[in-house]
Amino acid sequence: DVADLPGVPEWLPDHLRDDGIEELYPPQAEAVEAGVTEGENLVASIPTASGKTLIAELAMLSSVARGGKALYIVPLRALASEKQADFEEFEQYGLDIGVSTGNYESEGGWLADKDIVVATSEKVDSLVRNDAPWIEDLTCVVTDEVHLVDDGERGPTLEVTLAKLRRLNPDLQTVALSATIGNAEALATWLDAGLVDSDWRPIDLQKGVHYGQALHLEDGSQQRLSVQNNEKQTAAIVRDTLEDDGSTLVFVNSRRNAEAAAGRLANTVRPHLTDEERAQLANIAEEIRDVSDTETSDDLADAVAGGAAFHHAGLSRGHRELVEDAFRDRLVKVVCATPTLAAGVNTPSRRVVVRDWRRYDGTAGGMAPLSVLEVHQMMGRAGRPGRDPYGEAVLIASSHDEVDELFERYVWADPEPVRSKLAAEPALRTHILATVASGFARSREGLLEFLEQTLYASQTDDSGQLERVVDDVLTYLQRNDFLEIEAGELDATSLGHTVSRLYLDPMSAAEIVDGLRDWERGASDSTSASGSPTDAPAEPPADSGFTPANELAEDKGGSDDADADPDDISALGLYHLVSRTPDMYQLYLRSGDREEYEMELFEREAELLGPTPSEFEEGRFEDWLSALKTARLLEDWATEVDEATITDRYGVGPGDIRGKVETAQWLLGAAESLASEVDLDAARAISEARIRVEHGVREELVDLAGVRGVGRKRARRLFQAGITDRSELRDADKSVVLAALQGRRKTAENVLENAGHRDPSMEGVEPAPDVSVDLD
Ligand code: ADP
Repeated sequence: DVADLPGVPEWLPDHLRDDGIEELYPPQAEAVEAGVTEGENLVASIPTASGKTLIAELAMLSSVARGGKALYIVPLRALASEKQADFEEFEQYGLDIGVSTGNYESEGGWLADKDIVVATSEKVDSLVRNDAPWIEDLTCVVTDEVHLVDDGERGPTLEVTLAKLRRLNPDLQTVALSATIGNAEALATWLDAGLVDSDWRPIDLQKGVHYGQALHLEDGSQQRLSVQNNEKQTAAIVRDTLEDDGSTLVFVNSRRNAEAAAGRLANTVRPHLTDEERAQLANIAEEIRDVSDTETSDDLADAVAGGAAFHHAGLSRGHRELVEDAFRDRLVKVVCATPTLAAGVNTPSRRVVVRDWRRYDGTAGGMAPLSVLEVHQMMGRAGRPGRDPYGEAVLIASSHDEVDELFERYVWADPEPVRSKLAAEPALRTHILATVASGFARSREGLLEFLEQTLYASQTDDSGQLERVVDDVLTYLQRNDFLEIEAGELDATSLGHTVSRLYLDPMSAAEIVDGLRDWERGASDSTSASGSPTDAPAEPPADSGFTPANELAEDKGGSDDADADPDDISALGLYHLVSRTPDMYQLYLRSGDREEYEMELFEREAELLGPTPSEFEEGRFEDWLSALKTARLLEDWATEVDEATITDRYGVGPGDIRGKVETAQWLLGAAESLASEVDLDAARAISEARIRVEHGVREELVDLAGVRGVGRKRARRLFQAGITDRSELRDADKSVVLAALQGRRKTAENVLENAGHRDPSMEGVEPAPDVSVDLD
């Protein structure tokens, strides 16, 4: 009973009852018995949707009630806001919640007063590197989805971060939440924690496989589920569920497939909608179109009007929320999703269909099956407690043999054990530098001793492997001037400290420093050579489909001043430089792209920093081209190409543009710091390129676009109306501003106020008739 919880704040039982929670679920009760409300460490490995969040809340709230401070680590930035909304419910009882997912360089001083902080593991890692003083005040840390330590890319950060937090605060309560995995006890051993390992679920789950005209269930029964002429199996299942007034969540393996499937399934859903539902869905579709003016937005709105939707990490946050709410409100009857957010987003439905059980995997060079753990997590979303009698999770078989295979592989299978991925060079490169720079280790031995506290060390018998990689990494870091080793003492150089604080992969930093140095060298070499490396590139051929090269590059044309100036580094050159670092996810080259970007490279090679790899170096050359494609996207954005054209041209979603822009902003900011650290005179050019990409505008609009509420489109409109910078805006004729902003009074008032206008009121002002601004 929630009334009998030791250690929790006194308001909690009533609060839980208000939420419909009278009694703990059995795994939650086990967690309380294991002391989770009394400061004990705990690993809880329980199925999706079985109430892990409440275990986290019990731990954090009781820790805060004892005068402490709690940290909740989320695996994805996209999930931080979801958790924030959950925890903000406690603000009515005087708790302060803070969320920190933003840039990596700050120490987040403002978080010092928060009772509960939500952050990604990368963010926490960077806060530790930047010596955020409040980190030492933490009394409780909760890690969500801790099984992701198994992830080659992000797992090591989580592992090392937990080890650091625990070393800083030996009394820190550590609570780790995991999906059901094969070796939860290994995690418990690593974290000196009690263990709740349970497969209890609040609602029964039947797993099965659909093939032909039947649904084969794990209890041995069969249900007739017939596929009509020209109908796909998934559509048949969606229709069958609808006839029983239920909703379906369909997992597919790519964003494109999610979008296509949602479009098709809208046709299945539409005939089942009532007039009332149709009207409500039409409203939601309008809201979706209002979020952004892109093809993705249109496709989503069209699908939603028909009662279906797609959901993936390329969607903007506004879109995602509209979709999730409409699904929870049972207006949208089917959501087609990629697995990315399956774990964290609480969107249960009557049935789950796992349509694709293979996905493209670059390292495997083709399609690879999903892990049991992932498939079980998706399946776990089936069944809404209190609403459905039970949930059903269905895999789709395309042949009779596949029915057996899928039963073996997923339905009856146990999830894989989780294994540390720390002993890989890229992971250790970053973490060893940071560990030394923040003083966690001062010698090779100290470093090895620190690494002893990781999951890796608790799982391996071959300590020699770790030592070997550590030695390789130390050599690399020394060679690139990030670390010094003297008389057995390890010390970060000033450059090394900067790199660690900037949260850069040392390899990214080396690439940036080398590229900038190369440019400077090229620039000074060229004083004696015949041509300057900054010679203007040729105009792109008229049929290349691109807008002309950016104006910085054009400006350089005709200059016969061979003494190249660092201010002349083109924005494209800088975008390419940061796009080829391991910290940027480059765009893939699709078929046909290679030729296009080889040509582009030929045209604009002179703008790039550092020598182009030879075509015979397959991997590096390919990388160079992908970086060029990514850099072109950034350049398009910074030359005001509209969003819809960019999404179309590069085959990405609006969320991806934002992602690339944010990463570029961060890396260019880091490049500025690195340039001054190594005395390179390029900071101005870098800062210009950064600000342009931040606002998505050409040089002449930078000042205007920086005014809050203005943005790239409005800045251009104002500019066309003759208002060219912030000070002109401040003193502008209000009727001109109103006309430029298409008669939107509220917007105009806001903008004028933010620009510092004496009297921003638009009352009685009429739009100036002679201002004609036409961008669309
Ligand atoms: P998980 O994080 O394990 O996937 P959640 O914590 O999101 O699952 O819980 C799923 C749902 O169950 C939530 O809507 C939550 O409010 C509800 N819930 C959790 N614990 C209880 C309980 N003891 N009694 C009733 N409902 C509960």
